[in-house]
Amino acid sequence: MRYPVVDLGECVDCDGCVEVCPEVFGRSDAGYIQVADLKSYPETCVDEAIMMCPADCIAWEEREEAP
Ligand code: SF4
Repeated sequence: MRYPVVDLGECVDCDGCVEVCPEVFGRSDAGYIQVADLKSYPETCVDEAIMMCPADCIAWEEREEAP
């Protein structure tokens, strides 16, 4: 399954991903961007966030399904 991941070291806190794809991207209590824990992720909206991220720090990552 594909998960979106954010490289927080590169993130410039522009909130763009939260604006285009709020069901996936949000803010943690500590104020960092975090990815929601979902069973599956909406490709179109994550792709949109990837395209508009000014720091180019969002990417899809392939992971094994939990058993
Ligand atoms: S769009 Fe990119 S730089 Fe902007 S808050 Fe999201 S992850 Fe950070």
